[in-house]
Amino acid sequence: MSKTLFTIGPTQMYETTRTVRQQDIPYFRNQSFSDIMLETDSLLKKHMKTSQDSKTVFLTASGTAGMEAAIENLFYEGDRVLVIVGGGFGRRFEQICKKKKLNCDGVYLETDQQLEFKDLEPFADIDYKALIVNLHETSTGQLYDITLLKKFCESRNMLLIVDAISTFLCDEYSMDANGIDVTIISTQKGLCVSPGMCMVVMNDRVVRDYLKSSGELPNMYFDFNDYLVNMERGQTPFTPAVGIVYEIHDMLLAVEKDSLESKLKEVEGRTRAFREAVISEGISIPKFRCSNAITTVIFDKPIAKAVEKELIETKGYVINPCGGEIGKYRFRVSHVGDLSIDDTVDLAETIKKLYKEM
Ligand SMILES: *Cc1c(COP(=O)(O)O)cnc(C)c1O
Repeated sequence: MSKTLFTIGPTQMYETTRTVRQQDIPYFRNQSFSDIMLETDSLLKKHMKTSQDSKTVFLTASGTAGMEAAIENLFYEGDRVLVIVGGGFGRRFEQICKKKKLNCDGVYLETDQQLEFKDLEPFADIDYKALIVNLHETSTGQLYDITLLKKFCESRNMLLIVDAISTFLCDEYSMDANGIDVTIISTQKGLCVSPGMCMVVMNDRVVRDYLKSSGELPNMYFDFNDYLVNMERGQTPFTPAVGIVYEIHDMLLAVEKDSLESKLKEVEGRTRAFREAVISEGISIPKFRCSNAITTVIFDKPIAKAVEKELIETKGYVINPCGGEIGKYRFRVSHVGDLSIDDTVDLAETIKKLYKEM
């Protein structure tokens, strides 16, 4: 049976991405590849709503490397930072900061607790260098309120570092208007292309005032300076995942052609249809602000694993499980990728049917 990926990510890929994937990988140290890189960079900044003066680092590594490299290139041992820890990805940021020996405080959220301004107030008098956040905490489905984070940062001259890996092209995202200094994304989530690359976009104040110089960094592969110099001519210091660059380019061109708004509407339409269909007696979703990228489905009995198994076996529908004890009662369904409303509603109806049978 063919599989449909209601997962993030990889996601259910679009036909055009599959076509690009099937091409031969060309040689890349030439102008024609540079042109692709430069156009990709320009479209990325446009759709992220940041100035063309911002700088992008294209890394061949998964999203976590983008998180780690951003921290490493900007912060020193002992720097005070505040991390929103509302799930697995927040914990990952915290872990990275601790490994780099930053002086790191966490804003810890309980399961299903929505982040509010009052949760930041206990930290208001501390002099932090940055607030670090996964805007959509993909492990729970909560989309934090960016205006709330912006308000906290701008009144005290803090950097705002945002992992938008499952926000970009899923939910409205405006880097400059929200005072976001650094955005981290990766290829297999909102972008819906192959896993294997991540991008770190920095505004000019970060590049000018915060980026460490090469001499200060203990490593070579993740030294952003080298990437910035190379990117001036549309190249990377080391061999990138050339094929994935073509996939990103193709995806961003498609967004450009249809408009970002219609892309976001497409995702939102599926999200709304799914939620309307799935919420019923015994089946709910979290009450916090939810991202359009995924819906966390909560059962009132521990059947999540059994439902997941049935969905794969009877329909070929693949969903994202939730980790830990809680995973007995809930799983996550993605709405990004080449998914139709019909399949999305069928998934919801099948979940309801299975609930009644179990
Ligand atoms: C998927 C994801 C990452 C990165 O995970 P990788 O497996 O390293 O690509 C980071 N942050 C968020 C919010 C994610 O959803």
